[in-house]
Amino acid sequence: MPGRRTIGVDMGGTKLLAGAVDSGLSVHHRAQRTINRLDVSYLLDVVVDAVEETRDRAGGEVAAVGFGIPSLIDQRTGNAVIAVNLPLRDIMFADVMAERLDLPVFVDNDANCAAIAEHRAGAARGCNEAVLLTIGTGIGGGLILRGELYRGAVGAAAELGHVVIDRNGPPCQGNCPNHGCVESLASGTALAREALRMAHERPNSGLGRAHAEGRELAGPLVTELAHDGDEAAIETLATIGRNLGVAIAGFVNTFNPEVVVIGGGVMGAGELLLGPVRAEVAERALPPSKDIVEIVPAAFGVEAGMIGAAALAFDGLAQMAENR
Ligand SMILES: [Zn+2]
Repeated sequence: MPGRRTIGVDMGGTKLLAGAVDSGLSVHHRAQRTINRLDVSYLLDVVVDAVEETRDRAGGEVAAVGFGIPSLIDQRTGNAVIAVNLPLRDIMFADVMAERLDLPVFVDNDANCAAIAEHRAGAARGCNEAVLLTIGTGIGGGLILRGELYRGAVGAAAELGHVVIDRNGPPCQGNCPNHGCVESLASGTALAREALRMAHERPNSGLGRAHAEGRELAGPLVTELAHDGDEAAIETLATIGRNLGVAIAGFVNTFNPEVVVIGGGVMGAGELLLGPVRAEVAERALPPSKDIVEIVPAAFGVEAGMIGAAALAFDGLAQMAENR
């Protein structure tokens, strides 16, 4: 008899990834959807559709669904309070989904889910103190402190992307009222903006020519050009990495982590991003914290949030059984 599955759903700012996962955190079916409209009923329909497809092809009984959503979660109610990059203001997300799917539903912040996956079976395995950042449309954060996910008073902690690294920096994204957050200076969105600036400054570079050809200067293209040796693209990634490093130096001083794990789409740039991050941390953080910390890519790559959401659902089921 095939083992029980849960479905993990990672709801990014522009796309959604669902997967049927077993208790050993192996993935059995994946479903992906693009999110291209900002209204709630559309978004919920897309989610239900992706979960139903995954459930049909899970290869075993599906017992629960876990959601990682890019939102501040109030764990007292399962209320998605504010999603910076999705239309999820004040929705009782867990209740709505449990009713539509007729399954137990567990919800946490998407980066918290990624931290669970990386801690359980990935790049932070065996660590008691770990910081996780996931860099895509925005920047999500997750903290493992004393061997457990740290959620704060009501579940809204570890919004590490909204730590200010430049008081006079650009306005942050979406619903964040702040200026100069690391999210506004080192996210995928910031990368695209910096690439465009660089393309204008250096029209004869690979970046400049790509822009003239009308190509979209987003992370994947900048990374491709950088791998091909285009100096403008390499410098763009280095600027983003340095900005990220400023924030990480602060996290290293604050938490003295054994490891800082970096995931999300922008990590396709690999060492071209991580090298400048490490250089900045080495210049700015304090010993002995900076001497012991490792700064590494997420083992589960872009699937960390989805796999962690499934792990969250297994944890939730175990908790329910315990309380019975
Ligand atoms: Zn912010």
